[in-house]
Amino acid sequence: MAAQILDGKALAREIREGVREDVARFQAETEVQPGLAVVLVGDDPASRIYVSNKERACQAAGIYSEEHKLPASTTQSDLLDLIGRLNRDPRIHGILVQLPLPDAIDEGAVLDAIDPAKDVDGFHPVNVARLVLNQEGLRPCTPAGILELIERAGTPLRGAEAVVVGRSNIVGKPVAMMLLHRHATVTLCHSRTRDLAEVCRRADVLVAAVGRSEMIRGDWIKPGATVIDVGINRQADGSLRGDVAFDEAVQVAGAITPVPGGVGPMTIAMLLVNTLTAAHRQVGAPAAP
Ligand code: NDP
Repeated sequence: MAAQILDGKALAREIREGVREDVARFQAETEVQPGLAVVLVGDDPASRIYVSNKERACQAAGIYSEEHKLPASTTQSDLLDLIGRLNRDPRIHGILVQLPLPDAIDEGAVLDAIDPAKDVDGFHPVNVARLVLNQEGLRPCTPAGILELIERAGTPLRGAEAVVVGRSNIVGKPVAMMLLHRHATVTLCHSRTRDLAEVCRRADVLVAAVGRSEMIRGDWIKPGATVIDVGINRQADGSLRGDVAFDEAVQVAGAITPVPGGVGPMTIAMLLVNTLTAAHRQVGAPAAP
């Protein structure tokens, strides 16, 4: 039997609609409109598209948003000045610096400068530490979206074998930590993992965040497993493929995310959730939803 398709587009739409309602309630109660500042340095075309999608999503949810477009020649000290101003700006509850930054700028120094309370990407070391310690903090958007999808699939995590392929700071590591906090037994794989296919075959939940087109084959998947494909790999013809060979995997898995239309749309939805959560905590309004 073919797997259940986990429709990230539909789930993201539901979440965004929920945020829109919660923003309206928050604003009525506090007279504060949640605000997000997006900082874009240089003119990378993919980054420009991401930034304009984020702005559009904010507008639809009733979140105030402002974009700071800076030239590629911007110095690190100018960028740090801007972040300092945004940290102090009471209209702004979330700050997102679109990555990658130009080579001349130290990414770590920039992320460290963002007030952790406004760090809606969840990349500040304080938020990373809070994730590891399972304390309240802002969680990175893509991993948070992945957990929503797994929950929607109804996959029990307590005691389950979860395998995450890819150990990046933005996807693999945080997702592994979140699965661990939900009591899965987690294996975190990477390019030096021996016998990757065999490790993947153990997985009740398999998360692929590698960036290699269709690397994970159908016979790497345990029958009935939940498969989350984070990979976005553009093909020569312009189409997108995931890290999982979907046509094979869909015959074996219990549930699977498509590419596109799986994890991708969840990332922006979770950014809106984080911005509203950050506003709640900064304004001291009733607990965030
Ligand atoms: P990175 O390039 O930072 O990390 C890739 C990871 O995959 C590394 O840990 C690397 O191992 C591992 N890897 C590479 N080759 C192999 C291999 N042959 N076998 C096992 N592991 C391997 O990628 P990201 O985490 O940033 O992104 C991963 C994918 O997810 C990309 O396609 C990206 O476009 C996509 N993505 C999608 C998002 C969304 O919103 N849907 C958001 C973010 C990313 P090692 O550490 O040993 O080098």
